[in-house]
Amino acid sequence: MSKGSQAPGAAASGGGAAARAKRPSVMTKRQVRWRNRIIVALALFACALVLERSGALAALFGTPGDVYAAFAIYLVPYLVSGYDVILKAFKGIVNREPFDEHLLMTIATLGAFALVLFPDTGPHMAEGAAVMLFYQVGELFQSYAVGRSRKSIADMMDIAPDYANVMRDGRLEQVDPDEVAVGDEFVVKPGERIPIDGVVTEGSSDVDTAALTGESMPRHAGEGDEVVSGCVNMTGVLTVRATKPFGESTVSRILELVENASDKKARTESFITRFARVYTPVVTGLAALIAVVPPLLFGLAWGDWVFRGLTFLVVSCPCALVISVPLSFFGGIGGSSRMGILIKGGNYLEALAHVDTVVFDKTGTLTNGTFEVVGVHPAGACPAPAEGDAAPEAAPADADELLRLAAHAEAFSTHPIAASVRGAYLKSGGAAIDQGAISDVSERGGHGVSARVDGHEVLVGNDRLMAQADVTSQPCELVGTILHVAVDGAYAGHIVIADVVKPDAAEAIARLHAAGVSKTVMLTGDRREVADSVASRLGIDECHAQLLPQDKVDQVERLLAAEPAKGRLAFVGDGINDAPVLTRADVGIAMGAMGSDAAIEAADVVLMDDKPSKIAAAIRISRKTMRIAWQNIVFALGVKVLVLVLAALGIANMWMAVFADVGVAILAILNAMRCMNVAKMAR
Ligand code: ADP
Ligand code: MG
Repeated sequence: MSKGSQAPGAAASGGGAAARAKRPSVMTKRQVRWRNRIIVALALFACALVLERSGALAALFGTPGDVYAAFAIYLVPYLVSGYDVILKAFKGIVNREPFDEHLLMTIATLGAFALVLFPDTGPHMAEGAAVMLFYQVGELFQSYAVGRSRKSIADMMDIAPDYANVMRDGRLEQVDPDEVAVGDEFVVKPGERIPIDGVVTEGSSDVDTAALTGESMPRHAGEGDEVVSGCVNMTGVLTVRATKPFGESTVSRILELVENASDKKARTESFITRFARVYTPVVTGLAALIAVVPPLLFGLAWGDWVFRGLTFLVVSCPCALVISVPLSFFGGIGGSSRMGILIKGGNYLEALAHVDTVVFDKTGTLTNGTFEVVGVHPAGACPAPAEGDAAPEAAPADADELLRLAAHAEAFSTHPIAASVRGAYLKSGGAAIDQGAISDVSERGGHGVSARVDGHEVLVGNDRLMAQADVTSQPCELVGTILHVAVDGAYAGHIVIADVVKPDAAEAIARLHAAGVSKTVMLTGDRREVADSVASRLGIDECHAQLLPQDKVDQVERLLAAEPAKGRLAFVGDGINDAPVLTRADVGIAMGAMGSDAAIEAADVVLMDDKPSKIAAAIRISRKTMRIAWQNIVFALGVKVLVLVLAALGIANMWMAVFADVGVAILAILNAMRCMNVAKMAR
């Protein structure tokens, strides 16, 4: 990747679409030299062609002499354009891995020149030189295409910051983000990219998350807010305290994911690699047979059949196939990451294309996971549902104490419920959480938490937790998730919280159905009433409530068993209480912004902006990518077989062969590059 694209200047210019568009799409120096060499060779070739065809050579050198002169003048563009190919073929032989396209090309073209030794056939030097020339044109094009798609991934991945501004001796200094430790403070100026995940300690600003999510939605960040690395700070100066080392920050994780994605090959992709390994020796053998058998057995003209064999070799070059299939996957993965959908490998892209069942976790996936406290009811004081809005009501005196105990018991939990309870407690005017007063904390997935607060045994959780502790809980008429609280084995009351369904959740389900997903399922550990109301509002086909984390795995196992052979099951979750399910599903999809690190680790696909509607987009992109990959396979193989047969029959000459080869390669590459065009593909 060019160093220039990472210069501080580029980051300062906003790094947005405008800056990206201005950057010229450059070839590497090597490609420029390569291109120039091809142009020179083309010019030399044209001169040679004119000299030969105009009869100038014949006039100068007489009849046998003109052939040798032609040989010499075609050899020049041939060597100029193809010396490196011949060298590579030679190196392949030395390394005992001879069967690649360089060898095919070298044999075919040298053979065409060598035909001068067969007086029974016309000279084929022009073809030999032309094959090498156009082969190189095709190769250059390929290299450019691969480079471009790599670069556009790098561009979009141009989220890697080069430096962090750290205060040293009263002066701001630019240091390597790697050198910033957790707890260090750094300054992000407007226009700069946030280098490391952290919490704002000073200042307020709008941050643009486009690089991570594909959507330009400025988000406001003020004191105490978390900011994610890779986002661009737009308006104000922010001082941020690092909460993670650079290596574990969002940016590093994304870059790692994308870099590793090409290691995980789709079956289609590895099929092609294996195919090429067998195919090349086979066609080389066939070509040898075509060249040798008919003259030996039937006394046919050597020159003619050797030429057919050589033509066969030119046609058989598998470049189009070998390059365009991985390029399609590369494009699909790169394109979707531009939309904030990180697919960890070609194999997952392939699986996504076959998804027909999508299973959702509720909290944090279909709902925001930011609960509002709608009621705090100490034992014996649970009123009937309030009319109209669900604002917290004026509670009896010890409601504050109930909330305080609950918030302390939840002090160390990462569950969205816990965060909401803590938030509600602080908002109600509670003093900062006194961690010294808390001990013996234990969290039970799908149940709740228990802890010792101020020497009292506090339980916070659902009625299952209460039942386990032999505490009789009191029902509540408010709709929502109910957190019962027990103190020293006695029921103390409950806190009612309500979650909000994500704005695009209903649309996400509708789009999945429209994309042909036959079944959507919701699994949740929450109460049946809450689950049913969410499921029916969203149009989910099947809903299972009151599940423990293990029950979720069982449900997914059951659904997996019911899958048709070709169907794949995707599970979408936030990793809280559901990481095992993420691993178990054919495709685990995690919410990246909200989700835990464990979820991002366990998942195969990560949605950077937590929008469930991106799932349908991911499925559509993967289907189109697969379709394009298969179009290429069928098209390239079809044309190959056709021209191979024509070559064996002596109908196709080398000109046709080279155009078939380079033409197919270029068409296949152009087709593969459509995969990058995700905006269109997601529709
Ligand atoms: P979901 O399947 O909706 O994501 P979970 O499996 O994470 O929900 O949790 C299921 C239920 O377990 C919650 O609705 C809640 O009643 C209870 N629970 C889980 N964790 C906690 C916690 N930290 N505090 C209180 N209750 C909890
Ligand atoms: Mg959950």
